[in-house]
Amino acid sequence: MIGWGTTARTAAAPINPTTRELQVVAGLYTSEQRGNGIREERLVHNYLVEAGLAARIPKGIRIWEETLRDGEQTPGVAYTPEEKVRIARVLDEVHVPMMDVGIPVVSSEEARGVRMIANAGLDATIMAAARTVRKDVEACIACDVDEIALFTAGSDLHIKHKLAMTREQVKEAAVRETEYAVAHGVDVSFVTEDTFRADLDFVVDLYDACTAAGAHRAVVCDTVGVMTPPGITWFFEQLKRRLKPTELSFHGHNDFGLAVANSLAAVEAGVAVPHTCVNGLGERSGNASFEELVLSLEALYGYDTGIDISRIYELSQLVETLSGIPVGMHQPLVGHNAFAHESGIHAHGVIKHTATYEPMQPEKLGRQRTFVFGKHTGSLAVAEKLRGRGVEATPEQVAALVKLIKDFAEARSKGDQQAFVVSFRDRAERRRGVTDEEFWTLGQKAGLGRPKTAAK
Ligand code: MN
Repeated sequence: MIGWGTTARTAAAPINPTTRELQVVAGLYTSEQRGNGIREERLVHNYLVEAGLAARIPKGIRIWEETLRDGEQTPGVAYTPEEKVRIARVLDEVHVPMMDVGIPVVSSEEARGVRMIANAGLDATIMAAARTVRKDVEACIACDVDEIALFTAGSDLHIKHKLAMTREQVKEAAVRETEYAVAHGVDVSFVTEDTFRADLDFVVDLYDACTAAGAHRAVVCDTVGVMTPPGITWFFEQLKRRLKPTELSFHGHNDFGLAVANSLAAVEAGVAVPHTCVNGLGERSGNASFEELVLSLEALYGYDTGIDISRIYELSQLVETLSGIPVGMHQPLVGHNAFAHESGIHAHGVIKHTATYEPMQPEKLGRQRTFVFGKHTGSLAVAEKLRGRGVEATPEQVAALVKLIKDFAEARSKGDQQAFVVSFRDRAERRRGVTDEEFWTLGQKAGLGRPKTAAK
């Protein structure tokens, strides 16, 4: 039972993709798509499938979306309740099965946003987060959520220096608030922070106590992103052997760029519910990215996540706009460069067959490939552009144009691009939360004096 979960609306259909099915997902041309009825020879291998690795991913994985909770804890991000509802609706429309949408005790506006989403008639399970503190739990219940993500500290470091409690006090509060929430008709996912740096005996005891108190899921958090895939495999093997039956969930951070890889290791180890944030938003370097995890499962393993992947780019852009956090230029899948080609060799390959230099077709996630014309441009991309726009050209004319483009690109000043980088850095510094000047102006409103020493 551990890790397998129950069959949900968006649970995956039976999977065991053949290489050919996987090629369809991965965006390779098939004879059917070409409509010529000729079976295409197999030109690439997919060892994830051929070696049976894809088949190891258990059925029934459901994404737990954190864009509206951990994603909003990205430094400098604050959504209005209306913006939260807008994002929640799109997440629901693409069939995200569950989402944590905030911490109601934070503010009355936060609670209003959570309540609006909980009452928006969405199919997804709506969750809110609470510390093991009565007022937090009551604030969640008052927002009509389906479920509470009830969290406490797992590691002794957090218990001692953050909570200033004993292990016994942590356990007592966790059991007490789990029982209280369940008694009020709300499901509980029990979350321990910093689980991978915690004493295993203690967290096993803590999870088991909360399971006995009525929690139906154990959420295991790599809060500071210190795990690697083999570490994840080992840790969940320990937990599966020792925990009372419960559904397992994994919350991974990206401090070393391993959040998605760790999430894949977690689902392979039997974790049914991995956490994600759109665009990889979240505290510090963020959480496992929604688009990267979903499309790794879909495109690499041929796994049906139940998510409508055709709107992933639209969702990414919506979150980029409403969060105010720009997607990185070469961020996987949703970055500007993810499906852009400039070099002559690559553009040539892609024009002849997109799979040569693209692992999946951009159209699958609702975007287009682009050809950039510059220093590395080759003649085929130029000829294709001319042909596409109805302009006839001899090979000599194409060659002349290619030379002109290269010369132009090499001679052009980089001033423009450099000015953009400088203004971007400056803006990122100035617009994270309130500015230093705004801080002291608000301080005066609170009756404080001006600072006595210069800013460091
Ligand atoms: Mn987190």
